[in-house]
Amino acid sequence: MSSNQSWINRDLAVLWHPCSQMKDHETLPPIPIARGEGAWLTDFDGNRYLDAIGSWWVNLFGHANPHINARIKAQLDQLEHVILAGFSHAPVVELAERLVQLTPPELTRVFFTDNGSSGIEAALKMSFHYWRNMGQPNKTRFIALEHSYHGETLGALGVGNISIFTETYAPLITPALVAPSPDCRQALPDEPCAAVTERALLSLRAMLEQHAADVAAVIIEPIVQCAAGMRMHEPAYLSGLRNLCDEFNVHFIADEIAVGFGRTGTLFACEQAAITPDILCLSKGITGGYLPLCAVLATEKIYQAFYCDAPASRAFLHSHSYTGNPLACAAAIATLDLFEQENVIGRNRVRGAMIDELLVPFNHHAHLAHVRRRGMIVAMDLVGTNGQPYVRSDRRGHRAYRYALDHGVLLRPLGDTLYWMPPYTLTDDEWRHLADVTWGAVQAASAEH
Ligand SMILES: *Cc1c(COP(=O)(O)O)cnc(C)c1O
Repeated sequence: MSSNQSWINRDLAVLWHPCSQMKDHETLPPIPIARGEGAWLTDFDGNRYLDAIGSWWVNLFGHANPHINARIKAQLDQLEHVILAGFSHAPVVELAERLVQLTPPELTRVFFTDNGSSGIEAALKMSFHYWRNMGQPNKTRFIALEHSYHGETLGALGVGNISIFTETYAPLITPALVAPSPDCRQALPDEPCAAVTERALLSLRAMLEQHAADVAAVIIEPIVQCAAGMRMHEPAYLSGLRNLCDEFNVHFIADEIAVGFGRTGTLFACEQAAITPDILCLSKGITGGYLPLCAVLATEKIYQAFYCDAPASRAFLHSHSYTGNPLACAAAIATLDLFEQENVIGRNRVRGAMIDELLVPFNHHAHLAHVRRRGMIVAMDLVGTNGQPYVRSDRRGHRAYRYALDHGVLLRPLGDTLYWMPPYTLTDDEWRHLADVTWGAVQAASAEH
């Protein structure tokens, strides 16, 4: 029995894996990973996989990054954890200072939670609670976008609009109002994306005209709706949304959990529209992919609405046991160091031009549509000969997944959408390897049997 096999046996005897039908593992067992280095993962039999999805969109600077490792090790000998209610420590203060420095000047306050979903819960509660403290307790609803994803907890599912995640739990969920997605792929032939943007904003305006008095906030994943299949929109949508939120007196919550930290080509996606959200959620890449942490940034105006001598009910009593964990903060500080020291954003911009060259043949492939890129997110959709989507039961994306694994690349298509979201540290050769294997995966997935 191989080393992999013995680990798989032990795994399947005790684990319940996330986001999985466990019975699928009868034919495709989980892959046990023994080591990570740079963009590569190695299993217990010595097979290597290029991590083209940054281990679920979290890894920015490679596995076992020496700088991040060293910073966490140093912190470990100082302080592993301490309660953050009524106490404080050096890494959490430094991280908060640096996040405030890096984000627009209006965002002055940092609230920490343990992961993305819990950050969304905090953001929603904070917005609702702000209006309540301001004497507008009727503002209890949220507007989310079609195809939105904001995490898996019940509050986050309420502002989510991907049926496979929400449908089953509908009786438990308070649903948001849903405005159209500004996904550029909806443009009619010969129509620029600006037309899609305009239509989406008009619908949102109509919704706000009717409901603003009851709405606390609009929540959005700026520039790329990742989980729903890397749906990309124009920065102009964000500017339009900012104006509407101001006009109708509702908060703008930017969920940059997936797109923050350089993913869309700027450090934060909102920069592309030069706008400031009222609440900004950051997670995933914040620790370079090492440890769970979420930062919820808010404006001074929101913060001040909670600050008073009055009873506890005006204060924001949200908490999680590991809030502001020092090891996670240390990993985040090391990650910010790397952005500072290495001009990552500039280097990625140059890299982007090279990626576009790699994509030229993909643009002409008969079985691909909407080959698209925003910064360091690339996506493409598998389609049939007539350009129509495949039937779901064909599981073409899954075929691509299997092909890529057999050829040493970890792709994890979203349905029939293949995407790249690797660490920023890939070499030219690794990028070419990724493109080659993806090409083979497209061929394998689109072949008729
Ligand atoms: C991943 C994700 C979340 C949830 O974060 P978790 O840490 O997985 O709970 C929320 N919003 C967006 C946009 C995400 O991509």
